[in-house]
Amino acid sequence: EPSVLHGMIEVIVERKDEPFMRKSIVAIVGRPNVGKSTIFNRLVGERISIVEDIPGVTRDRIYSQAEWLTTNFNLIDTGGIEIGDEPLLVQMREQAEVAINEADVIIFMVNGREGMTAADEEVAKLLFKSNKPVVLAVNKVDNPEMRDQIYEFYSLGFGEPFPISGTHGLGLGDLLDEVVKHFPELEQADEDDLTIHFSLIGRPNVGKSSLVNALLNQERVIVSDIAGTTRDAVDTPFTKDGRDYVIIDTAGMRKRGKIYETTEKYSILRALKAIERSDVVLTLIDAETGIIEQDKKIAGYAHEAGKAVVIVVNKWDTVEKSEKAMKEFEDQIRAHFQFLDYAPIVFLSAKTKKRIHTLLPRVLEASENHAKRVETNVLNDVIMDALAMNPTPTVKGQRLKILYATQVAVKPPSFVVFVNDPELMHFSYERFLENRIREAFGFEGTPIKIFARRRK
Ligand code: GDP
Ligand code: GDP
Repeated sequence: EPSVLHGMIEVIVERKDEPFMRKSIVAIVGRPNVGKSTIFNRLVGERISIVEDIPGVTRDRIYSQAEWLTTNFNLIDTGGIEIGDEPLLVQMREQAEVAINEADVIIFMVNGREGMTAADEEVAKLLFKSNKPVVLAVNKVDNPEMRDQIYEFYSLGFGEPFPISGTHGLGLGDLLDEVVKHFPELEQADEDDLTIHFSLIGRPNVGKSSLVNALLNQERVIVSDIAGTTRDAVDTPFTKDGRDYVIIDTAGMRKRGKIYETTEKYSILRALKAIERSDVVLTLIDAETGIIEQDKKIAGYAHEAGKAVVIVVNKWDTVEKSEKAMKEFEDQIRAHFQFLDYAPIVFLSAKTKKRIHTLLPRVLEASENHAKRVETNVLNDVIMDALAMNPTPTVKGQRLKILYATQVAVKPPSFVVFVNDPELMHFSYERFLENRIREAFGFEGTPIKIFARRRK
């Protein structure tokens, strides 16, 4: 039986020369119980099972990566956004608002078994006004005889309704073909563009805005006048020591109406969009209050997205300054954020600007490592040395054989190791190889990915 990773490896190998692209965002909107979560899980299922077991990170499933044919996109289940005990219509309106603001294409889902309801018509009105592309999906059409039930939904005004069945996985291909047709032409990152895009994430009051201001007010930082060009984000380009940077606004900073302030999940969505567009993500921790569960969750998103990460301990002015205090805090971070063991830690104060100058050099380094390519022959020398040092394990009388390795992608650096049988590559041996690769090439600040693949 092919492993879950098997399909992914094929994809990575085929796409090695494609430039990095921002992914389109699709949101699923609809009344409770029409089957949004069922469809969401079907579309992202495999991937969730891959990313879910980052130790210490609880995952909520409102946002995930999905894939159709060769197109990757991000999917939002607005049903996961719960707003207190407000009445249905209010909730629906707010979900629609999220979808309209965030998504490139909206899947409007209705229930073919129950037929049209007043709430469906209400949501339709909002979506209609938004001018976003909307694809209408009629769920719970579990067999061909039920297809007649889709016709009444023509009157919602979104053209042809697509019959689907979440439980049986029917009709999803046609639906996604239609969704993908509406994806906008997205700005493609220029491979030669050396500008370093970074964002700051962290819970409210950790000091994100203060740190942005402190960075921009440093000596010899030249802030360009050009206003951010990217749709719905306020980006600030600046230059320091001959390098170009862009700070991507994580916008929890900008408030837009009630829902934006009251929904924690919603601010996470905004952070996720900023992460998506970043090369490097600065994960902020408040030295004054210490590490809390929410910090881990937020940091987990940066890690999952495969971005370079720098951990910033802000408000260091509030802590008694000593080598010992710093070491203790560092130990705590390493214990809580084991999945970020590659991320450097910077201690600073946005308020007093102490140690602020230590930050950008780490951002630069992490960004360079994130985009680093190593030569195949040098890589294989390293792997062969590693094999000599720690022979491959034997599982049920079968020994793992490593034939050769090659780097197939950057951002983050990804390696395929060709082996006799991928099942024999256990986590601990993969980890050992990762550590050898890190020691040899210095990938500080960036995750790296290793995929075992059977040699054809
Ligand atoms: P959500 O509230 O819109 O996220 O809806 P859920 O995904 O939680 O689904 C609500 C109920 O509908 C669950 O009991 C599902 O098993 C069921 N359901 C989802 N899709 C289908 C389908 O295609 N056919 C049928 N018969 N039931 C479905
Ligand atoms: P944001 O919500 O993450 O953008 O946080 P802000 O930048 O608005 O900061 C929240 C609060 O923390 C404000 O009262 C800041 O003055 C304060 N603050 C930010 N950075 C520091 C710092 O380095 N030291 C201290 N003592 N306070 C800080």
